[in-house]
Parts: sequence; C-alpha cells; structure tokens
Amino acid sequence: MNRRDFIGVLAGATAATAMTACGQKEEATAAAVSSQPQKTYEWKMVTTWPKNFPGLGTGANNVARLIEEMSGGRIQVKVYGAGELVGAFEVFDAVSQGNAQLGHAGAYYWKGKIPSAPFFSSVPFGLTATEMNAWLYYGDGLKLWEEAYKPFGLIPNPAGNSGTQMGGWFNKEINTLADLKGLKMRIPGLGGEVLKRAGGLPVTLPGGEIFPSLQSGALDATEWVGPYNDLAFGLYKTTQFYYTPGWHEPGTTMECMMNEKAFKELPADLQSIVRNAMKVANLEMLSEYTARNQQALKTLTEQHGVVLKHFPEEVLRELKRLSQEVVEEAAKADALSAKVWASQKAFMTQVSKWTDVSEHAFVAARSL
Ligand code: CA
Repeated sequence: MNRRDFIGVLAGATAATAMTACGQKEEATAAAVSSQPQKTYEWKMVTTWPKNFPGLGTGANNVARLIEEMSGGRIQVKVYGAGELVGAFEVFDAVSQGNAQLGHAGAYYWKGKIPSAPFFSSVPFGLTATEMNAWLYYGDGLKLWEEAYKPFGLIPNPAGNSGTQMGGWFNKEINTLADLKGLKMRIPGLGGEVLKRAGGLPVTLPGGEIFPSLQSGALDATEWVGPYNDLAFGLYKTTQFYYTPGWHEPGTTMECMMNEKAFKELPADLQSIVRNAMKVANLEMLSEYTARNQQALKTLTEQHGVVLKHFPEEVLRELKRLSQEVVEEAAKADALSAKVWASQKAFMTQVSKWTDVSEHAFVAARSL
C-alpha cells in the first residue's frame, strides 16, 4: 500500500467512525461496506408441542430466537404450536413438503414412516442425555440420522434434551409386572412396545390430549416428561402415583428438522448459524430441565399430595429383559435400523463403562 492509499483508508475509517459516533448513520455505513443488500429469509417452524409449553414449546421458541439473533435478523422464524398450522403429528410431512422450513418434535413420533426413528430420540434402558449427545456429535449418530431423513428431503438436528424422564403417572401401585396387564397407558416409541409385551395397551397421543384422556378415564396411566412438564399439565389432578425412573426414556433428544431445499438455499454463514443455534438450544433445554425438575417435584409432593414411588427392582429387571427383546426386534425392521442399532449398541457398550467409572461412581460417593 503506498502512502496515498494509506491516507485514503485512514480517512475512510475516520469518516465511518464519525458517522457511527453520531449514532444516526450506522445503517448507511453498513450499506456502504456491503456492495449489495443481504437477502433475508422468512421461515416457519411447526411443532408437536402446545404453543409456549414450558421446556418443549419454549425450547422451540429458543431455536427461533437464537437463529434470529445470531443471523442479525437475516432469518426470521415464526413458530406455530401444535394445531395452529398443522396438527402435532403432521409436522414431519409439513416440513418434508416444504410447507414449513423447520419442525420441532421428537423423532420417535415418526416410527410409522421411518422404523429407525426411535433410536434417535430415546431407547429404553439406552443412552443418557450426555451419552446420547456424545453418540450424535462424536459417534455416527447424527450421520446415520441424516441418512434416515434424507429420502424425505429433511435434515435432522438435535435441538433439546429432556434428561432422564419420569416413569409416569398411574392410578394404582405397580408392585409386579402383572400390574401392567390391561393398563391403557400413553407411552410412545419403543417404550410403548415394551408395555405391549408386558400385557399393557400403549397409546400414542400428543401432549395436549393427555390430561382430558386421563380425566375421562380413557387412559389409566401416562408418561409425559418429568416434574417440570407434568406439573404444567396438571397431571397430579388425575392420578396419584408418580413413578421413577423413566426406564423408557433415559435421555430423550428433541429434534429440529429442516427442509433440505430451504437449508441449501442459505449462504454458508447462515447455514452455520442455523446449525449452531440448534446446538445451543440442545444445551439450553437440558440445563432448563436440570434446573427446574426438582423444584417442580417438591411442589408436586408437598403441595399436591403426589406419592413418589420407585418401580420395584424386579419390575425393572423384567422391563429391561422385555426392552432388550423389543429393541433387538425393532433393529430388524430394515437395513438402516440394523445399522443404527449396531452403532448405538457398540457406542453404549463402551461409553457406559466410562459413565460407571466416572459419573456413577462420583454420584454414589456424593450420596455417602
Ligand atoms: Ca416421554
């Protein structure tokens, strides 16, 4: 750079600083720097959750807010609760067909379309939240999930995690496996298949329909998420016994699927922003549940008379045995399911040993 150019740059920089300092012409300065106006995108996000529902609906809102903030408003995302634009279980098709660009849901809702889908949300007696994220980001999890959604023109992303869920609400005590016989329970995914094998009648219902179904007696039992969410739905008004642990959902990943065509139309920086917004949302949701579940459980037991119960060890042993049968059979549904389960099983075998040596050993020590 010769001296004249250098002075020219200095003068330009000084002028820009002066304009910014005036606080009036910032937009004009930005426009002068950029040779052409940046394209903006207006996206829709459909969700399987009631609008603004704590943790899940707000988790979807979080993804939208983060995308807008991180992109400086270049992508605007309007969020629709279940039933506003499409029904809860129409989210997958809506995003696949491009009627919405984003869909916030749980992958196990789509097992009728994609047999391997439940493996990307939660597997009974499977990975915890931390282990699930490790498999998705550092194992083959996300790569396999993308393979599963590709034929539908969708790209999946982890975008939230509930942590270990609760075993559910029951209108009677569960002392033996036989107590599950004939029990009509809302429980989706592979957990529902396990209940069926134990003689129960699993039902898949969107969250918003659980409370009225319990109240009318159409359901005897339900699982939903954990104290924070279950308190919000008022489930304690219908059933008294609240069981732990959530053997069927040890660390459920929520998803934010993207319409592949819409995503590919974005410039590279916005693609990175969208993906990283979902990563942040994934962390935030788990943090929110971890922070709020115990407060909610205290309210349930101390203010609403809820009886906190542990499934007897023998019942859990039996459920684990049935879960292994169900999961192995689900893995035979198609070639991809077999590949996904082989990957997750191998990952679980090695990572669970480390969890035992590290976190499990520590938590035991802390409880001494
Ligand atoms: Ca659940």
